[in-house]
Amino acid sequence: MSDLTDKQLGMDRNIARRDFLNGAAMAIGAALVPRSLAAQTPAAGAEQNRPGYNPPVVTGLRGSHPGSFEIAHSLRDGTFWKNAPAPQKLAAEYDLIVVGAGISGLAAAHFARERVPEGKILILENHDDFGGHAKRNEFHLGGKLQLLNGGTMLIDSPTPYSPAAAGGLKKLGIDAVALEKKCTDRSLYRSLGMGSGIFFDRQTFGADRLVLGPRTIEGPESDSGKPQASAWDTFLKQAPLSEAARRDLLRIETQKVDYLPGLSSSEKKNRLSRVSYRDFLLTIAKVDPSVVAFYQTRTNGEWGVGVDAEPALDCWALGLPGFQGMNLEPGAAPRMSYSAAGYANGGSARFHFPDGNASIARLLVRSLIPAAMPGNSAEDVVTAQANYAVLDSPDSPVRIRLNSTVVGVRNLSKEEALDKRVEVIYATGKDVFSVRAGGCVLACWNMVIPYLCPELPESQKEALHYLVKVPLVYASVGLRNWTAFHKLGVSSIHCPGAYWNSAALNWVVDIGDYHSPRSPEEPILLHMSRTPCKPGLSAREQHKAGRAELLITPFEVFERNIRDQLARSLSTGGFDPARDIEAITVNRWPHGYGYEYNPLFDPEWPAGQAPHEIGRKRFGQISIANTDSGATAYTDVAIDQAHRAVSELLS
Ligand SMILES: Cc1cc2nc3c(=O)[nH]c(=O)nc-3n(C[C@H](O)[C@H](O)[C@H](O)COP(=O)(O)OP(=O)(O)OC[C@H]3O[C@@H](n4cnc5c(N)ncnc54)[C@H](O)[C@@H]3O)c2cc1C
Repeated sequence: MSDLTDKQLGMDRNIARRDFLNGAAMAIGAALVPRSLAAQTPAAGAEQNRPGYNPPVVTGLRGSHPGSFEIAHSLRDGTFWKNAPAPQKLAAEYDLIVVGAGISGLAAAHFARERVPEGKILILENHDDFGGHAKRNEFHLGGKLQLLNGGTMLIDSPTPYSPAAAGGLKKLGIDAVALEKKCTDRSLYRSLGMGSGIFFDRQTFGADRLVLGPRTIEGPESDSGKPQASAWDTFLKQAPLSEAARRDLLRIETQKVDYLPGLSSSEKKNRLSRVSYRDFLLTIAKVDPSVVAFYQTRTNGEWGVGVDAEPALDCWALGLPGFQGMNLEPGAAPRMSYSAAGYANGGSARFHFPDGNASIARLLVRSLIPAAMPGNSAEDVVTAQANYAVLDSPDSPVRIRLNSTVVGVRNLSKEEALDKRVEVIYATGKDVFSVRAGGCVLACWNMVIPYLCPELPESQKEALHYLVKVPLVYASVGLRNWTAFHKLGVSSIHCPGAYWNSAALNWVVDIGDYHSPRSPEEPILLHMSRTPCKPGLSAREQHKAGRAELLITPFEVFERNIRDQLARSLSTGGFDPARDIEAITVNRWPHGYGYEYNPLFDPEWPAGQAPHEIGRKRFGQISIANTDSGATAYTDVAIDQAHRAVSELLS
């Protein structure tokens, strides 16, 4: 923490954010959200029909916001049914009920409609908005619309999109390659003399110092696009690191050393798959121990844990340094994670909509309920004003019901229904309802499913519990201007030891009627990310520890750390957190990325026996989607799993 007082940090400033009760405290002892609270948040009953209902503009604690998870947690804790009223039976019946309005759930409805165009579909979602992780953060800074992704950031996957996923995007009007070429400006910040920087914090490195990254300081880049030794030399001279650390960092970054001489490429890859990157640095490359702190959080954004829990081989695929002299053959190898193997072979096309993949969710909603999302192209959807009041209209064959947590799903017996049917029970802030359908796709988080379907075989429930999602936080911070960044020459900052792992000025994307700020005098959005974890534990245990931390962290702590870290890293450029911060939204994702197996900790399961494969098995008229059932965290996988789940039900 800095030496600045709360007042100097601006904690008392009246900015766009809402002061919330701590979400975890709300859950204690409560089966249902108390009426008083439900009335305060947009999570109350049919609130979505209220004029002006527009969740993307809500600031404060978003992501899994207060009001969205308490019911599910009370179901997990066994207290829900002790306090809940008897379900009210709804007369309307559906062909399909989808649980979860994330991209997988929306895509499931989309595929089901393609197969059965006259089918009636109900989508139930526990959050106050559709999209799941594909969440839109919408600000109006200086009277101008500015957007950021609250979760799912961009079209980007380790493998090219499958025919189902690519075909789905095409039908929505998305051509990622063409949009990237037309709309993304990757040169603006560079043209203003800005690049990346590293913020060394005094708790980790002994001094608070922002140092321009080696990519942005003088010295030509090599043919491979990597900065040359001279640029590293300049960078390291300014970094608050010991002589030994500087020497070894320079070696790791720039020298071609074969640290495993005498082994073939595949033997080296095998060896590197069995040690963490941290151990590679310490025991194979034999660096000074102080070097580790510089790299510790380099993998957090990709996997939610640091280099202590990521195999060196996966880090090689991700582009971490130290391998340039090891003559590793390009491409995937056995014992690599899904992401590392895919990226080692190439990856998909990339495109970032200003609100991330929330635009995909919005396009899916348009395809399902045209009146809810005016317009007709992937460009105009960015500025389209969603009409939430028609999402759950009785006249529409597809209905999306928000603020509705599913608490039970079961196959009905022959005595209960003539043909094969399911009963789905859901709770709002006030009431519990029972509704029937011909089938159900569970596109919700897979680890919730054992609580919804207690009749599942024990082995399937156990498999579903194995999938521990990765916790993350994305903050969107509205700034009055970005003159301090400009003055310092940084547009993005990596912060290896600090509370927030990174801070980056918004992407420059002009699409449809949406235009990114181009002058440092203009307001802008800053994206900050934090991946809470506990180095030293296995990846799954780190995710559990991170999630526990997130659920007890009040908004105020996130805010103070935003202000503090920006003050410490940018004050030499004139940044004043009290004056320059205009709005804050913290997207808290205790259940973030879908779990991806980690070769350091997870066994190699026989084909078809991995937890996600056992966990996603169809159960009567209930099938299972979501990225979790693909054991990874990508939009194409969410769509592919929806496609599979719908095909299973209709087969
Ligand atoms: C911070 C973050 C950044 C990401 N960035 C990217 C990226 O750049 N590119 C990419 O391809 N992927 C990214 N991902 C991965 C992302 O998870 C997937 O791409 C995709 O959006 C997941 O869609 P989904 O529908 O499978 O799951 P989700 O989006 O999680 O949707 C599932 C929905 O089900 C709801 N639900 C759960 N339980 C219940 C219940 N009992 N009743 C009702 N509803 C319920 C959940 O609340 C949720 O809204 C990111 C994820 C996170 C968290």
